[in-house]
Amino acid sequence: MELQFKGRGIEIEQKVKEIRRHFHMYPELSHEEEQTAKEVQRHLKEAGIEFHTGFAGTGVLGVVKGEKPGRTVALRADMDALPIEEENETDYSSKRKGVMHACGHDAHTAMLLGTGLLLQKYKKDLAGTVLLVFQPAEEDAPIGGAKAMMEDGVFDQYKPDAIFAQHVWPDLPVGQIGVLPGPMMGNSDRVTIEIHGAGGHASMPHQTTDAIIVTNQVINALQTIISRNVDPLESAVITIGRIEGGSRYNVIADKVTIEGTVRTYKNEVKKRVKENLFKLVNGIAESMGATANIEYLDGYLATVNSQEWANEVKDVAQALIGNDATPHVNPSLGGEDFGRFLIHYPGAYYWLGTAIPSRDVQKPLHDPQFEIDESALSLGVEVMSQLAVNALEKLNEQHGGDQYVVSRKNKSSKRGANSSIDQMAEGIASNC
Ligand SMILES: [Zn+2]
Ligand SMILES: [Zn+2]
Repeated sequence: MELQFKGRGIEIEQKVKEIRRHFHMYPELSHEEEQTAKEVQRHLKEAGIEFHTGFAGTGVLGVVKGEKPGRTVALRADMDALPIEEENETDYSSKRKGVMHACGHDAHTAMLLGTGLLLQKYKKDLAGTVLLVFQPAEEDAPIGGAKAMMEDGVFDQYKPDAIFAQHVWPDLPVGQIGVLPGPMMGNSDRVTIEIHGAGGHASMPHQTTDAIIVTNQVINALQTIISRNVDPLESAVITIGRIEGGSRYNVIADKVTIEGTVRTYKNEVKKRVKENLFKLVNGIAESMGATANIEYLDGYLATVNSQEWANEVKDVAQALIGNDATPHVNPSLGGEDFGRFLIHYPGAYYWLGTAIPSRDVQKPLHDPQFEIDESALSLGVEVMSQLAVNALEKLNEQHGGDQYVVSRKNKSSKRGANSSIDQMAEGIASNC
């Protein structure tokens, strides 16, 4: 009989809650997760779990080795917070001004630690190896931490046969898991456009090229890419989130800068939106006597679940929580660095319901009042633990239980040895 974690979350519930609250009080921005990483290492050490450091700066890899032979499964949590001033007033609110865990990565890290601790406790019956991947800089798109962790050799010694991650989700109640085969999260790109005209006196526009008027045309025209160039049955969003230009009411502006994001699921849709954006912006600027400077950053690729492992998440959630635990959900056009792991290793990403019952309207991720229902924490630990065990069992059946261990490459060769990762990821990005 395989290991069963139904109801076992309670064994670790209090500890996970305390760990989460600690991380919540002391949030750290992307690439700066020093204390968080130290705390992760402290808990792993205390539990006797092997760990390795030096991946993407602050990244940590915990290794739970089952006492029975088997394959390898990875579980990932992100550790970074956001530059947001918390508006919640609780006794564990952020103690760092202007920094907040507004995306629930405090909960992800705490739940992954809880999962590691629980699996370690039952390692006698664990058939295979479970990798605990603590990732930095998820919020720093398009750089992220996933690619750098792989380049730094996080999976050189232990190569996962499948990889999973969960994200807290305010749109689902506690006890529900959102998962889909195929795209779960979108391509997330960032664009900065500078429109250069020629300034002058507000009363003499004929002597100028008004950068504000040109930008006005550009912003309106960009939305026609969505309504006229994209198949109406496909998804795409262009949002301009920032605009800056001009100096005074009676001076015609010579320069305007706008910043925005392009979200899509399919690479062919992204390619079309991107191409049309360049054509439109340059065309409008030129026709009005201005010039445009476009900086387009290809961000996170879509997070695409494999059919097999998305189904496994569903099966595990239903077995643990009940048949109604996996309602139909639509994918999100939010960006997610986990997609980069899924390019190289099959797996699945799913949402863990954390809605606050007392709130009529939930605050979204990245909101200064974002909060989770902590009763979801032990459930998240149970789902992750059971998922690791069930995935291992499935993999062991498929592969006859032999362990797949690749010898660890020496540090100096890591970047070079993994250049195929760059090429593959960049190849996909440039295809877009
Ligand atoms: Zn986020
Ligand atoms: Zn997040």
